[in-house]
Amino acid sequence: MSLLIVGSIGIDDVKTPLESHKDLLGGSASYAAVAASFFTPVRLVGVVGEDFPQAYHQLFARCGIDVKGLQIEKGKTFRWSGEYLWDLNQRKTLLTALGVFEHFKPSLPAPYPDTPFALLGNIAPALQAHVLSQMEKPRFVMADTMDLWIQIAKPELLDLLRKVDAICMNDSEARELTGKTSLIKAGHALLSYGPKYVIIKKGEHGCLLFGEGRFFTAPAYPLEDIHDPTGAGDTFAGSLMGYLAKANDVNFDILRKAVVYGSVMASYNVEAFSLGRLQTLKPSEIEDRYNAFKIISHFDDIDF
Ligand code: AMP
Repeated sequence: MSLLIVGSIGIDDVKTPLESHKDLLGGSASYAAVAASFFTPVRLVGVVGEDFPQAYHQLFARCGIDVKGLQIEKGKTFRWSGEYLWDLNQRKTLLTALGVFEHFKPSLPAPYPDTPFALLGNIAPALQAHVLSQMEKPRFVMADTMDLWIQIAKPELLDLLRKVDAICMNDSEARELTGKTSLIKAGHALLSYGPKYVIIKKGEHGCLLFGEGRFFTAPAYPLEDIHDPTGAGDTFAGSLMGYLAKANDVNFDILRKAVVYGSVMASYNVEAFSLGRLQTLKPSEIEDRYNAFKIISHFDDIDF
C-alpha cells in the first residue's frame, strides 16, 4: 500500500560540539520518505529550487520514491542551520531561509489523491489541511507538527486535529498545546481534540501511544554513539506510517509494533549526519534491532 508524504525538503548546515557539516540533505519530508521507503512505496510531495543538488534527486530515486509530487521552482531551496549543545536534546536554530518554500502550494498530481495512507509532515497546518482536502477518502492520516505552528497557527492546527486519525508531536509541544504538565493528561487532552490516536515522542526517553482507551510506552534504543539528532522525529514518523501502510491495517496492536519500528529507525538515523546512516542501512539490521527492543523491554513476573 502506498504512503503519501508531504513536508519540508531542504539543505541543512548542522553543528554539534564535535563535528560540523554543510549542505546536507534535510527537511521533514526527506527523512520521513527515505525511512518509510524501507517499508512501503512512497509518494513525495514537496518543493525544491533549481539549486537542489542532483545527488539528492538521485538519492530519492535510489530509494524508489515517487517524485511526481516534487515541485522544482525557480529560486533557492529551503535552508536550515542548527547547532546542538553538549546535551544533544538541546539545539539552537541559527538560520531558516524559506526560499521557494515560502510560496509552496502543495498540489497532488494523479494518481496521488487515491493514496490510502498519508503523513502530513511538518509544514504549516493550513498547508497540511490543503493536502488533506485533495485526498479521496484516505484510510489513515497522521499529522506531525512543531512548536512554531503552536505559537503562530494554533487555530489552524486545532482545526487540522479534528480531521486526522493520528497526531504525533514531541513532549514539549504536547505540553505547550494542551497546557498540561503531565504527559498523560496531555495525551488525553490531545485525544479530546479529535484524533483517534496520539503519539508523544520523548527523544532519548522513547514515546507514548494513546488510543482505543489503551496506553503503551516504548523505550528508545540505548545508543552509545549519537552523531546528529536532526530528523529523528521525522524518521520515526515516516517509519511508523510506512509500517502501517505495509500492514495495510490499523489498530492499537499494529500501532504498538509501528512505534517500535519508528524507534528502531530513529535510533539508526542519529548514528550519522543527515541521511547518511539510512543510506547504508540493511533490512536485516532493522529486524536485529527490533528483536533487541523486545529483549530490553521485556520482563518476567518472578516469584521469590
Ligand atoms: P527535526 O530534527 O525532527 O526537528 O527535523 C529537522 C529538519 O526539519 C531539518 O532537516 C530542517 O531542514 C527541517 N526544518 C527546520 N525548521 C523547519 C520549519 N520551520 N519548517 C519545516 N521544516 C523545518
